[in-house]
Amino acid sequence: MQNQKSREIRLKSRPVGTPTAANFELAETDVPTPGPGQVLVRNSYMTVDPYMRGRMMDRKSYVPPFQIGKPLEGGAVGQVVASNAPHLKVGDYVQSMLGWREWVVADGATMMKLDPTIGPIQAYLGALGMPGLTAYVGLLKIGELKDGERVFVSAASGAVGQIVCQIAKAKGCYVVGSVGSDEKADFIVKELGVDKAINYKTAGDLNAAVAKAFPEGIDVYFDNVGGSHLQAALASMRQFGRIAACGAIEQYNVTEPPPGPNNLVLVVGLSLTIRGFIVSNYFHMMGEFLTDMAAWKKAGKMKWKETIVEGIDKAPEAFIGLFKGENFGKMLVKVGPEQAV
Ligand code: NDP
Repeated sequence: MQNQKSREIRLKSRPVGTPTAANFELAETDVPTPGPGQVLVRNSYMTVDPYMRGRMMDRKSYVPPFQIGKPLEGGAVGQVVASNAPHLKVGDYVQSMLGWREWVVADGATMMKLDPTIGPIQAYLGALGMPGLTAYVGLLKIGELKDGERVFVSAASGAVGQIVCQIAKAKGCYVVGSVGSDEKADFIVKELGVDKAINYKTAGDLNAAVAKAFPEGIDVYFDNVGGSHLQAALASMRQFGRIAACGAIEQYNVTEPPPGPNNLVLVVGLSLTIRGFIVSNYFHMMGEFLTDMAAWKKAGKMKWKETIVEGIDKAPEAFIGLFKGENFGKMLVKVGPEQAV
């Protein structure tokens, strides 16, 4: 497409502590004509995820750091507008790892074709995509959940947490979620069907609140938060309990090493398992996950919430909002029309 301009968000500087708008810049580029094997995609939605905070630091990790002055990257879904790739045609919906921009030209082989009949395309960035699979793998494979067990979930109304809650309920478990507002607490109880919610911001002593919600103890703790939540969960674990270490958002913006849980010794006496995981090592389970999700959805056991922010220029704000609990369910940014051709 000749003379097509695309706006994109670049990393201007590496955040120290909580990111601010000044760490990002909005830039405009010319969209190149797709070469052999390449496709031109108009992105409709992009995702912002907590893990991106780690990529903003210049350190060795399981994904390379973002580069200063270069556009950020992450999941996006959109529609093919021109194609030189044999398996993709104009009008197909695709997912790429080239979010944070309005238009994409890239090798068609790096794009995954989506089936828009299973769910709305943006759901492939949330419930039907990476966050949903994280919940599934973390709970069933890492947490080795058994039917009817007692499950504690932190960040329970978020992209991953809301799916964890419902899978555990579908397995007949007793489920308690921790969230940061009364509105979120209402949502996880009334809409997601969990047994109890703890608003960790108003609960006072979190150890006591968790112990009260679990008079018989916790079998599986799905840890999205780390820190004080991990400490409170440890204090209420049952013998042979499992902790699926998914994330530690409480400490993603700290500038000094936070204190560790002071009760880790319980791992020994209670024969606990704490096991971390990175979802990208389990992408081979996507087919199995989508089959189960389709069945749960059909049975009325699965729903999800999204917070959609409009416009590529608002993407940094949406990202920063994750650390302030501004999202309800999956945080997404709408960066273009759903129908581009
Ligand atoms: P969410 O959609 O849950 O958004 C983040 C939420 O975290 C906020 O809405 C907020 O909810 C909560 N939060 C923010 N700061 C704090 C804090 N200091 N203490 C307690 N809660 C806080 O994000 P995701 O579902 O995408 O991710 C959840 C976790 O899972 C993250 O730690 C993430 O890094 C991790 N993750 C790990 C993966 C893996 O492969 N291991 C893959 C994907 C995600 P509230 O209002 O309730 O406080």
